[in-house]
Amino acid sequence: MMNNKVIIIGGGASGMVAAIQAKKNGNDVTIFEANKKPGRKILVTGNGHCNLTNKDIKPDMFYSDDMTFIKELIKRFSYKDTLSFFNSIGLLTREKKNLIYPMSNQARSVVEALESQCHILGVKFIHKHVKSIEKIQKHMFSIKTDDGMMHSCDKLIIACGSAAGNKEYSNEGIIDYIMKTGHDYKTMVPALCGLCCDEKSFFSKVKGIRSDVKVSVLINDEEIKIPHNDTEGELQLTEYGLSGIVIFQISSIVSRALRNNNKVTVVVDFLPDFEDVVVIANLLLSQDYAAKKNLMDINRGILNEDLSKELVIRYAEEINRKDLTISKKNITAAELISFLSYLKSVKFEISKVNPSNAQIYTGGVSTKDINPLTMESKRVSGLYIIGEMLNAEGICGGYNLQLAWSEGYIAGGSIRL
Ligand SMILES: Cc1cc2nc3c(=O)[nH]c(=O)nc-3n(C[C@H](O)[C@H](O)[C@H](O)COP(=O)(O)OP(=O)(O)OC[C@H]3O[C@@H](n4cnc5c(N)ncnc54)[C@H](O)[C@@H]3O)c2cc1C
Repeated sequence: MMNNKVIIIGGGASGMVAAIQAKKNGNDVTIFEANKKPGRKILVTGNGHCNLTNKDIKPDMFYSDDMTFIKELIKRFSYKDTLSFFNSIGLLTREKKNLIYPMSNQARSVVEALESQCHILGVKFIHKHVKSIEKIQKHMFSIKTDDGMMHSCDKLIIACGSAAGNKEYSNEGIIDYIMKTGHDYKTMVPALCGLCCDEKSFFSKVKGIRSDVKVSVLINDEEIKIPHNDTEGELQLTEYGLSGIVIFQISSIVSRALRNNNKVTVVVDFLPDFEDVVVIANLLLSQDYAAKKNLMDINRGILNEDLSKELVIRYAEEINRKDLTISKKNITAAELISFLSYLKSVKFEISKVNPSNAQIYTGGVSTKDINPLTMESKRVSGLYIIGEMLNAEGICGGYNLQLAWSEGYIAGGSIRL
């Protein structure tokens, strides 16, 4: 029997795993990779350490327009399968609080393991940018590269990731083909990133400050449930707005809501360890100096001093009580309780997401159009779509690479002679 000629567009995380599995099945496999070296994005993951998966894999850690797709994927290829796969290609791993890293602690080891396994098995690499796709016969695709050359294949795997961390990314020709063939495609927008606010004067004064907080999200003024519940952690205040891991974890929800033209507000609790503000108010007012101090001075010591000062100013402006910032002494219990309650729910309206530090893009091809048992498109036979190009993603913590490995493994493994 003739072997399949398989072309994979993209030699990243999902593409290289798909290539290894398809080649093991005896297919003739070629990866088209736009960069001179494959796996460039893997090199920057986990700050160069590559958090390649997570022991705590639950559907709540993921988002997709079809959660049955995610459940099926987790069932078919778990984090343990990821570990076995990497062990089988010579990469040892270590665990740090559920997060899995290569034993060497270097992302480079992950790329080298994948690339060398591709070479051992005889996967071919062509370092060219794929510009467009066509289906020329019932069982044959043709792709065109940036030098005008055409290449044909029986099975085509699209694994070209997203624009996250890649300023030169442009895949209009591939997206055109995906849409032309009837796939439901949502514009891809940055996620796992910082959030921009229009309050330039506030943020220019607090930039660089970090604070342990709890966050929630309002969409059109209604609080929404955050499935993964990872809403407490370090907030980093920056020149443009909000950042830090706790913000990254809610950024996909925010990004999707903004894409749909909703009003999005992030509510920050700057006193997450205190449920009852009356207790803190009593403590502060019981101190001898409190009567002679203004609101700014009373709060010194609860929060970073510069942040506390700017929040008093912001609060005083919002309730139209400028006297509270400087002149008003003898702060009453009611005034203090009201300010402390404000600190527990400071609202920031989000104008846009910050693409420059996005780790992924949310959106892409609907997973309803993809068979999770094979990763083959339900619209075009012989076409497989994997990795970030799909409308399925995880939160921070190794979940996005886990998706890429699973999807690559399933796609490559399902292409048999
Ligand atoms: C800074 C940063 C840190 C991250 N850290 C983590 C982490 O620690 N853990 C985690 O789970 N996830 C992390 N991620 C996310 C993770 O890297 C991605 O989710 C994952 O790499 C997606 O895999 P993929 O195969 O879809 O795409 P990629 O790995 O991006 O591979 C796509 C490949 O396709 C190539 N390509 C694109 N278009 C074409 C074309 N037209 N022709 C030819 N080649 C093309 C690209 O050059 C690229 O090599 C991080 C991302 C970033 C940006």
